[in-house]
Amino acid sequence: MENSHYLLLTPGPLTTTKQVKDAMLRDWCTWDDDYNGLVQEVRRKLVEMAVKNTEKYTAVLMQGSGTFTVEATIGSVIESSGKLLVCANGAYGNRIAQIARILGIPTVMCEADENEPIQIEQLERVLTEHADITHVAAVHCETTTGILNPIREITKTAKKHNKITIIDAMSSFGGIEIDMEDWQIDFLISSANKCIQGVPGFGFVIANRIEIEKCKGRARSLSLDLYDQWETMEHFNGKWRFTSPTHVVRAFYQALLELEEEGGVMTRQERYEQNQRLLVQRMKEAGFKPFIKDEYHSPIITSFCFPNEDFHFASFYEYLKAQGFVIYPGKVSQTDTFRIGNIGDVHEADILALTETIERRSVYQ
Ligand SMILES: *Cc1c(COP(=O)(O)O)cnc(C)c1O
Repeated sequence: MENSHYLLLTPGPLTTTKQVKDAMLRDWCTWDDDYNGLVQEVRRKLVEMAVKNTEKYTAVLMQGSGTFTVEATIGSVIESSGKLLVCANGAYGNRIAQIARILGIPTVMCEADENEPIQIEQLERVLTEHADITHVAAVHCETTTGILNPIREITKTAKKHNKITIIDAMSSFGGIEIDMEDWQIDFLISSANKCIQGVPGFGFVIANRIEIEKCKGRARSLSLDLYDQWETMEHFNGKWRFTSPTHVVRAFYQALLELEEEGGVMTRQERYEQNQRLLVQRMKEAGFKPFIKDEYHSPIITSFCFPNEDFHFASFYEYLKAQGFVIYPGKVSQTDTFRIGNIGDVHEADILALTETIERRSVYQ
């Protein structure tokens, strides 16, 4: 906690290192070669993280929070005659569908309960019923609850029916090993302030080169035109079309270096998994049950049920904040929950300190 007033145990913005914050203490010109070279380096590193066969993939960065990049992708890759199937078992899956509806894109749903992964048999049925579906979108780690969806089976099923696949891996990319080619993902979406442990300000898409090249002129927005943004970055050496978040990009580059120093995605995934297992074990001891079954759980964020009817989240939250820990309210629709994230610059000692602080308060329960 040396570098901040409290520890963020939230799914982004999250606790960043001092060096990531320090990287923002310089001003950068947006058309200078140094800055654009940095953008190119970031794009290259993102592709290397996402896939072994780097030739076939390319990266594009987009201003705004993660949702802006989801909207840019949905609005730019689906042709006007296209139809989208959205897999949803939480708020972020539903948000993709909401974006599509606002953009006037015909949408079909494949839904599951918030505590259940997407069911492949149901996906198969929906794909068979609606042969005119062109794209399938799904969320990898549904941050609403922390559940992991079976992305490889979802994309395998989608590919069997020749569909383009779009994966919101916002809260998992960089924290869970993914190989886009192996996993048959055409467009993968994530953002600066999740598992790569940068600060908020932009999102990014890693795309199958052949598929993004088909997207010229499809966008339903000027500023959120993913193809145009990509083409400019690609042909003008890392140039963004409109003002880019220079300080955030510099901090993100530092965060990428730190991810490499930590040992790469696999090592980070192990740290997150250890954090999450320890958190759940200690929270169970303190009387809190996770909302999701262990076997469906991601190592990213955990939803806990309120322990009883008298539990008052606001005072629990204030108590923890006063002790230096910020947690997250719940997002589940039917059950009272709160969430604790364990991504970011968060380590075993932090989880132990948090859960000791929670145990000390159990008189309130
Ligand atoms: C964080 C997140 C987003 C994007 O949220 P923003 O608030 O727009 O950054 C989208 N999908 C998932 C699964 C997320 O965790």
